Amino acid sequence: MPPGTALLNDGFKGQALLIVDDSPTVRRGIRIALEPSALFNEYVEAKDGLEALRILNQRPIDVILCDVEMPGLDGFKFLDLMKGTPEYRGIPVILLTGLENVEKKIAGLERGASDYVTKPFDKGELIARVRVQLKLKMLQDQLRIASITDFLTKQFNRRHFMEVLQSEFDRALRYSNPLSFVILDIDHFKKINDSHGHLQGDRVLVDVSALVRSSVRSHDVVARYGGEEFVILLPQIDEAGATAVAEKVRRIVAETAFSGMDGQSVTISLGLVTFPGKDPSGKLTVDALIHSADDALYRAKEGGRNRLEIGKLTL
Ligand SMILES: [Mg+2]
Repeated sequence: MPPGTALLNDGFKGQALLIVDDSPTVRRGIRIALEPSALFNEYVEAKDGLEALRILNQRPIDVILCDVEMPGLDGFKFLDLMKGTPEYRGIPVILLTGLENVEKKIAGLERGASDYVTKPFDKGELIARVRVQLKLKMLQDQLRIASITDFLTKQFNRRHFMEVLQSEFDRALRYSNPLSFVILDIDHFKKINDSHGHLQGDRVLVDVSALVRSSVRSHDVVARYGGEEFVILLPQIDEAGATAVAEKVRRIVAETAFSGMDGQSVTISLGLVTFPGKDPSGKLTVDALIHSADDALYRAKEGGRNRLEIGKLTL
């Protein structure tokens, strides 16, 4: 058993390690050294930086072991390219360098490498260094997920939603695509809390959010907006399409028998607004979208609840 192996497997395991080296012998040696550690489900190999970039584009990778000297796209050029790409920036890269090459080690670290291992490598050291980077990566991923997720419902939180709304709005403007936005609120939620208790209220929040999530497309964005308010962002859907979706969500909630409610139904009111893809005034903002949907929601409440109202934008 290589040294270090005994410390492994304290509850985390990565999807895949990417080994980038022009020498098949080195790649094989690394794979054989790491496989017993069971740190990853898969070990993927690339012969140069270009092939490595192609793999990154195709599948999730947790840690990269990368040779510095390779024909074609070498380790430094690969580092520059991947660290310049937001989606890949968080993946730790451990450089494989020659024993004496201190300058290259320093240059690699300055270019964004997380660590280095000298060749010929020591198995125990290799495992230990890879393990540290995997653990950091997984903790970083967990933190990122926690920072954008609502703790109770596991949907996105409001902060993340506002970021997505802004970027989707910018995109819709740029490409003249429609963008629809729904804000919905559970009717008489206070009464549910008062008569069934807060735990039951929480359960209803979780159940409603799950129903909403499963009623929309995978690339639509669902978030908890406030206490009993949720939002749905529907990119590239016009008003007619979004109306159909919002109506479907309303109906599914109203027709669902919620557990713990003693047969009492749960309903939602919804306000919808669609940005048509063009803003001749050039003055439209996401705040105006939210305001209009909020207004529509207010009218739905005033109009008797368990209903959808459509907001208008002044363009
Ligand atoms: Mg090489």
